[in-house]
Amino acid sequence: MKKFSLVLLFVALALFTNAQSISKIINASDVKRIESILSSDSMQGRKAFTAGSEKAAVFIGNEFKKIGLGTLNGLSGYSQAFTMVSPKLINISATIDSSVIDAKNVIPFTTAASLHITDKSGFRKTVLKAGAQFRKEIGAYLKFKENLIVFVDTSFAQNFTRLNRMRQQLFKSEKSVVFVLGTFAADRYDINITQELTEQQGSNVVAVIPGKSKKDEIVVFSGHYDHLGIGKVNNNDSIYNGANDDASGITAVIEMAKYYKAANKNERTLVFAAFTAEEIGGYGSQYFSKQLDPDKVVAMFNIEMIGTESKWGKNSAYITGFEKTDLGKILQKNLQGSSFSFYPDPYTDQNLFYRSDNATLALLGVPAHTISTSKMDSEANYHKLSDEVNTLDLNNMTEVIKSVIISAKSIVNGKDTPSRVKADELTR
Ligand SMILES: [Zn+2]
Repeated sequence: MKKFSLVLLFVALALFTNAQSISKIINASDVKRIESILSSDSMQGRKAFTAGSEKAAVFIGNEFKKIGLGTLNGLSGYSQAFTMVSPKLINISATIDSSVIDAKNVIPFTTAASLHITDKSGFRKTVLKAGAQFRKEIGAYLKFKENLIVFVDTSFAQNFTRLNRMRQQLFKSEKSVVFVLGTFAADRYDINITQELTEQQGSNVVAVIPGKSKKDEIVVFSGHYDHLGIGKVNNNDSIYNGANDDASGITAVIEMAKYYKAANKNERTLVFAAFTAEEIGGYGSQYFSKQLDPDKVVAMFNIEMIGTESKWGKNSAYITGFEKTDLGKILQKNLQGSSFSFYPDPYTDQNLFYRSDNATLALLGVPAHTISTSKMDSEANYHKLSDEVNTLDLNNMTEVIKSVIISAKSIVNGKDTPSRVKADELTR
């Protein structure tokens, strides 16, 4: 009995000292400073690919620099830039096996202004047969490393037109994939495509603290800095400040970077990522995910909307996709004896696991989850002009940020490795 209570005392003491050292580095006044700047009107709602979001990116980069963080392999600074292209078709003419094909039966995924391909162009030819899983196969074709021409069985005629929506925004690429509806021998074909291109530059802001002993094992902390921009004037306001969504997550990422840099004892490599273009399709996190080897990513903590109290009140949050890996259980174990509780996502019908920036890595098997406090069935200011800093509980938000650090301890120090998202989950 005596031994037992001594052990308990040590556990309590260890938690207390841990919490104390975190409180020395992370405090509500710095949380308020960062949160207020990111959600100020001068950032113009941080819409992706606008001057407002660029300003936010510069601010985040400056914070990373002040903290003294390193850069990701291959990058000269914190900015991870990429180009999105919106292609508008001007003209398509196609002849296949000497018959002329209706332009609407050809849908190209290319970021070239003009493309002329024939059976001699070296495009790999393939056929999407009746009965195949359309969405899954299309996804695989679009990830293909070579130029590709895909003849799609006419039983997919209805699905086929949906491809037009998927090609509205593409990552700039040298590679082209051309879909043609119809059954052809396709021994001879000649296709001419011209398009008008609109290019947009965006950038994630990414920083690194190399691991002490497990450099090749990566833990990602992320949020998104873009929001909805400027809308119609209503009650003298037109700026979507996105204080909760997701300036709160970015504030958390900066504060956590500050803590881990000062603590200087992470065994695994920590990557801090502020994504752009979440609100318009998750393009920033998609680009980021393609730049790393998913097998090296041990865990991802994506922080989305932690500025309000969760449905359970203060000092609590939820984890999306809780049952898909055992990351949540590890976090709960590390929080035992503290005043925090993490719960499984109570809004499973909203499919949040696949709706935020964790999704791309999760679909590659990474235990990548989102931590949030947002009451998704009743959050008063969600995606409204009124999502402003004065609606947030910054003290509680500070505590939630600390709780993520406490919960992540055994993962950051390399003692726990969460299970991967199972392959059968990934064939949705
Ligand atoms: Zn968000």
